Amino acid sequence: MGYEVLAGTGIPYVPSGEKTPFPHNSPLQWQIESAMKQQMIKTKKEKPPIPCVANSSFFIDTHCHLDMKDYGEDLDKILIQARAHGVHSIITIGIDEKSSIAAVELARKYPLVKASIGIHPHDVDQIRPDTYQRLKTLAVENKEHIVGYGEIGLDYAKLYAEPGAQKKAFSQQLEIAKELNLPVIIHDRDAHQDILTIIRQSGPFPRGGVMHCFSGDTRLAEQIVSLGFYLSIPGVVTFKNGIELQKVAATVPLESLLLETDGPFLAPVPWRGKRNKPSYLPYTAAKVAELRGISLEEVADQTSRNAQTLFNYEVLP
Ligand SMILES: [Zn+2]
Ligand SMILES: [Zn+2]
Repeated sequence: MGYEVLAGTGIPYVPSGEKTPFPHNSPLQWQIESAMKQQMIKTKKEKPPIPCVANSSFFIDTHCHLDMKDYGEDLDKILIQARAHGVHSIITIGIDEKSSIAAVELARKYPLVKASIGIHPHDVDQIRPDTYQRLKTLAVENKEHIVGYGEIGLDYAKLYAEPGAQKKAFSQQLEIAKELNLPVIIHDRDAHQDILTIIRQSGPFPRGGVMHCFSGDTRLAEQIVSLGFYLSIPGVVTFKNGIELQKVAATVPLESLLLETDGPFLAPVPWRGKRNKPSYLPYTAAKVAELRGISLEEVADQTSRNAQTLFNYEVLP
């Protein structure tokens, strides 16, 4: 096998993983390695930039976990970047009592952050007799910062808690959401049927809700929409294997869609596998626009209107 030459360097190109014919640490070996590094840096720079939305439009990241340690060091910077890329509001989501309190603190500190509170299905074993009462007090005392109840729901993929306990906590918290007059933020992994059954039993929900990080097919999407719920589209829609979600994002009425990062998880292409952050939301929006054959602004405007309607607050452009 011959060696190609790296463009512009005159140095032989050695595909990664192949042995070079030069002794280790030889000057030529060093030159090859540094040229390969430069090539990698160049490739990184060539990632498609974050899609730009016109000034009058903006996005709302309806589901992010800003309290997680992935953001601890540089949260200020993350929020400045979000704003610079047209993400004018972010809802940070509670998953247990501690993160619900943290979410409220973040919302108090940063004007572009709103909070939700609730106990995630992974964490229902932490629920004590007075947990719900403390969450209710938190909600009543922080009305202007808390816009939703959740995330709550069922997760049969990881089964950190047994299904019976998950269902009980889900039903109980749907009632609390109604009592607090908050929309519900629902987490559903591999539990579509039970989620539908429980929502139907517990309904109606005067404040509505959202199936966050929607992972069902178009049939489930129709059922959810017919219950008056929104679907939230995560970065998965940009994945090669996100075909089912792409069908959903292309066909569900735009009036029923929200956008989310679910940061720090599920970064959209071209950052798949890296830490996700609110400033990456436009990649997801651009994919939805492409799938529907409409402009990025139309996606931004309608999904932002939807989010403001569901969560009942106003975002300044
Ligand atoms: Zn979730
Ligand atoms: Zn989440």
